[in-house]
Amino acid sequence: MQEIQCPKCSNENISKSGIISGRQRYKCKNCNYHFSVAKLGKSIDKYYVIKALQLYLEGISLREIERIIGVSHV
Ligand SMILES: [Zn+2]
Repeated sequence: MQEIQCPKCSNENISKSGIISGRQRYKCKNCNYHFSVAKLGKSIDKYYVIKALQLYLEGISLREIERIIGVSHV
């Protein structure tokens, strides 16, 4: 399963209960609390930042990193 916890009781026994305005909605099976989690998207940016850092640490120039990843200044 996914690493999602109920924000109310920190229970991991969560069930999906549909998607509302682009957000996955979840229901806690423990306390019946409904909550939604933003869909992945921001984490892709984070992935690129980490990737860029790894390349940088390997001695690749920023110019090269930009070329490899395909983004301008991070
Ligand atoms: Zn709960």
